[in-house]
Amino acid sequence: MNTCFPGLLSEFDNHHLVISLADKKSELSGFIAIHRGDAKQPAFGATRIWPYASSQEALRDALRLSKAMSYKAALAGLPYGGGKAALIGGFSAKKRIHILEAYARRVNALHGGFITGTDVGLTTQDLRILRKRSPYMVGFKVNPEEYTALGMFFAVRSLLQEVFGKKDIMGRSFAIQGLGKVGSEFLKLIYKEAGRVFVADIQTELVRKAQKLFPGIRAVSPAAIATQKVDIYVPCALSHALNSKSIPKLRCSLVVGGANNQLENEKAGDTLFSQGIFYAPDYVVNAGGLISVTDEFEHNTPSTKRIGEKVKRIGETIQRIFRETAQQKIPPNRIADAAAESLLKAHHEY
Ligand code: NAD
Repeated sequence: MNTCFPGLLSEFDNHHLVISLADKKSELSGFIAIHRGDAKQPAFGATRIWPYASSQEALRDALRLSKAMSYKAALAGLPYGGGKAALIGGFSAKKRIHILEAYARRVNALHGGFITGTDVGLTTQDLRILRKRSPYMVGFKVNPEEYTALGMFFAVRSLLQEVFGKKDIMGRSFAIQGLGKVGSEFLKLIYKEAGRVFVADIQTELVRKAQKLFPGIRAVSPAAIATQKVDIYVPCALSHALNSKSIPKLRCSLVVGGANNQLENEKAGDTLFSQGIFYAPDYVVNAGGLISVTDEFEHNTPSTKRIGEKVKRIGETIQRIFRETAQQKIPPNRIADAAAESLLKAHHEY
């Protein structure tokens, strides 16, 4: 069986378009996956560069993440589809510019059907290079990670209200996995009021930098972050933080993180639910960044007020999911998936 053929992968969800990026000259390789979207409702999704072990792994990531982007847009009330580019990294610095140029040409060939920006592995400098070569790049006039963190903050407050009867951050404890763009922005938002805050990153210089800015935080090893006894565990690193090994060791009440694809699989959501941990579906709570770049796309001058109002609604959406979970005794990831699927069915041809 040719398992590299998208239709044969379990992640394939009748995606509208899957493009294999292969450019011999520059050595660009990877995939653009468009889950839902068309010329009228383009697919939004950032570009990731990662040293994938194989093409198949990159394809799986593009398929899975593009689907999550469609779900994210649907539950954030945005009239767009979901897409994602997964480029295979591990190339030399000298090749980078040529790879980015070749990639921009491929994005341009989609004539605006795919609008993209930076994800893990792309720098602001990369985005500037891409922007010069493609009009379909976003994330220049807004700072998406700030809004991603803000959406998580609203979600945390709503859930604290539901679980503890008070939305105050005051005295609440957190364990933040990953101090990159999103993790560090989230830390900024909670630091003043929070109680104990544990942090971890595999890049020790990021931990040291955060300790200088926020002296009260406690650094633990990346292996120990998920096991801290806290109110809220905040995964802000890579995929699958919630898996069969980590879940039995969790000692938190809530999981509210910025990372995409936190659940290893659907069963991981069921296990969290049976352990009495409320998992806030990642694509619901981390939609702030998407909300901000769509505002940039729609308006010449993005508005902090307009974006802020939409981001605030993430708190209301998560409250609804929390209440439905309690009433129906169905894990929150399943409640959110069902809601997103019915919205997508109404707006896009399946
Ligand atoms: P980033 O690359 O800036 O940060 C990720 C951080 O995680 C890095 O500092 C990395 O060293 C650290 N890390 C990796 N593995 C780790 C581990 N095992 N333990 C501890 N730390 C580890 O990326 P980012 O933009 O902050 O995004 C983080 C996550 O949030 C990604 O999954 C991304 O897809 C998702 N996300 C980001 C945005 C955004 O606005 N940037 C929006 C939605 C979702």
